[in-house]
Amino acid sequence: MSDRPADTPEQAELRAAARAFLTEHAEPRAELNPWQVSGFPDDDEARAYFEHGRAWQRTLAEHGWAAPTWPAEFGGGGQPTWADRILREESADYGSHPGFIGATIAMLGPTLLAHATDDLKARFLPSLVSGEVAWCQLFSEPGSGSDLASLATRAVLDGDEWVVDGQKVWNSCAQFADWGFLLARTDPDAPKHQGITFLLVDMSSPGIEVRPLVQANGSSHFNEVFLSGVRIPADQVVGEVHGGWAAARTVLANEAAFIGRGGGAPASDRLRDLAARHGGLDDPTVRQRLAAIVSRERLQDLMGQRIQAAVRNGQRPPFDPALTKVMVAGTKVLTGNLAAELAGPAAVAGPADGDARGTWVRAEVLNRFAISIGGGTTEVQKNNLAERSLGLPREPGHDRDTAWKDVPRN
Ligand SMILES: Cc1cc2nc3c(=O)[nH]c(=O)nc-3n(C[C@H](O)[C@H](O)[C@H](O)COP(=O)(O)OP(=O)(O)OC[C@H]3O[C@@H](n4cnc5c(N)ncnc54)[C@H](O)[C@@H]3O)c2cc1C
Repeated sequence: MSDRPADTPEQAELRAAARAFLTEHAEPRAELNPWQVSGFPDDDEARAYFEHGRAWQRTLAEHGWAAPTWPAEFGGGGQPTWADRILREESADYGSHPGFIGATIAMLGPTLLAHATDDLKARFLPSLVSGEVAWCQLFSEPGSGSDLASLATRAVLDGDEWVVDGQKVWNSCAQFADWGFLLARTDPDAPKHQGITFLLVDMSSPGIEVRPLVQANGSSHFNEVFLSGVRIPADQVVGEVHGGWAAARTVLANEAAFIGRGGGAPASDRLRDLAARHGGLDDPTVRQRLAAIVSRERLQDLMGQRIQAAVRNGQRPPFDPALTKVMVAGTKVLTGNLAAELAGPAAVAGPADGDARGTWVRAEVLNRFAISIGGGTTEVQKNNLAERSLGLPREPGHDRDTAWKDVPRN
């Protein structure tokens, strides 16, 4: 029996419409290969996966499902907040999803809605939501990850253009993106959080070089991005000049919440299959580890439902959504480790083709730390939770009030 509250007539009508749309256009999960790994293991696969996601986003947009709750004038559906939840619930049995495009919409959409001028919203939101323009996040730098506010990429105003010089790194899908949202230092005399500006940059601008980083799994999920004398029109600023940290925080909060939502079928089914094949089902330690993973998956599901119930009632989430990111990241590590131990040698080597299970195991092993690092590391999320949710004293910040230019750097 479902533990979902009964729909109002209005919600039931929307649910029926969502179901009809998905039945006609989406790929039923039951018809997909459960061992299929998206965008793995090489560059062609990564690009094909990215474009497949973009095509699905276009389909959603064409039928009014791309952003059900956003304002209609900016490409959304103008529906109440529960419409997102209903679409998500109905989508659970389908494998179609927008891939990385979904992450950028979740990060940049609310940021533009909250911080951008009406002109920028009208210019950028409709093509973001339709997938016509794909974006990448240009935040991290070789010396600035967890301590993002220490970033050193410079932007200097020259007439009515910003001129940007610097280097970004770990920029997911930047090699496929049309535009980027970029943090740059515009006031080196101010303390680190107060001299940053949030800029929107066309990735085909002269002076931008995108260098894919080849990973151990053979593909390039992320890139280095070099910016040399890149000119950006002065009106492509989100929020206040020098006050971009506020918009950056909106991106980071939405990124953590998006990752914490998880997605896809739970891994425990596949782990059970692996345990049965490799003779692990009678091993009490394997059974305990499987039980822990199943319990965490169930807890994550319940936490998601509680957040969604709050959204349904127009209330604040009952706990910080960063908690679900920490939870999902921890489960992924447990899953990858167990998959590796069950599969044995197939976790590190296997036939090049025709070995879907082995490919899945290798992807789980190699990717198991991606979620605990990307979007803010687990350690940093725990710091945030300690301060925001538990009210513990703030982490000491020796350079918080010092002019950025006076802070020693490597
Ligand atoms: C899959 C993936 C996708 C990514 N995509 C993007 C992207 O699209 N755009 C982008 O800009 N960046 C992206 N990143 C980069 C990501 O945001 C950074 O890797 C992350 O913020 C950590 O920064 P760092 O790698 O510099 O590690 P560091 O900050 O150098 O951290 C090193 C270690 O020290 C720990 N640590 C650091 N500070 C503290 C502290 N105060 N308290 C306790 N422990 C601490 C960390 O937890 C970590 O274990 C991506 C990363 C991954 C893995």
